[in-house]
Amino acid sequence: MQFDLRQLGRQKGGSLRDEHVDRTFQPSEFVASVGPDEEYKVAAPVHLEMDVHKDGEAYRVTGRVTTRLQLECGRCLEPFEIPVDSAFELRYVPHVEPSTEGEEREVAEDDLTTAFYKEDSIDLGELMHEQFVLALPMKPLCRETCKGLCVHCGTNFNKETCDCAPAWTDPRLAVLKGLIKSEREN
Ligand SMILES: [Zn+2]
Ligand SMILES: [Zn+2]
Repeated sequence: MQFDLRQLGRQKGGSLRDEHVDRTFQPSEFVASVGPDEEYKVAAPVHLEMDVHKDGEAYRVTGRVTTRLQLECGRCLEPFEIPVDSAFELRYVPHVEPSTEGEEREVAEDDLTTAFYKEDSIDLGELMHEQFVLALPMKPLCRETCKGLCVHCGTNFNKETCDCAPAWTDPRLAVLKGLIKSEREN
């Protein structure tokens, strides 16, 4: 999933013309690049559209990536999907060796997110991965009202009920119940 920067075509005048990239990747292509500890799985073909504009040593890349990601609900652990439609604007500068890392951070002079290219190519897998991570919700929930699992037997309360003690009460409610109880005991 590399984009070869040397393929930017030259115009008659000798200047580089902007390159329009329009590619679709299948979910299976992401398996190799996504580690087992990733929080998402690519669940639909990924459509990547972007324009690459050469700007001195740097390349300005603006585009958009759309797909669907599969996540695991933080409450009931069931898989669910979210749509992704992310626009991005990045500036790629030549990769600098780690020994000069201090200088790397000073590269960004504007609001554009700075990324690095190596060996005349942009790693599209990394680009898309970063957009996906940005699109992930803070708390992945299959639905706002997800009832979660019974802590005792693991029953998914969205689907069925169980006979365990009331497994989930609103913490605020629990405090209230405690107050009522202690009042009665007094
Ligand atoms: Zn859930
Ligand atoms: Zn239970």
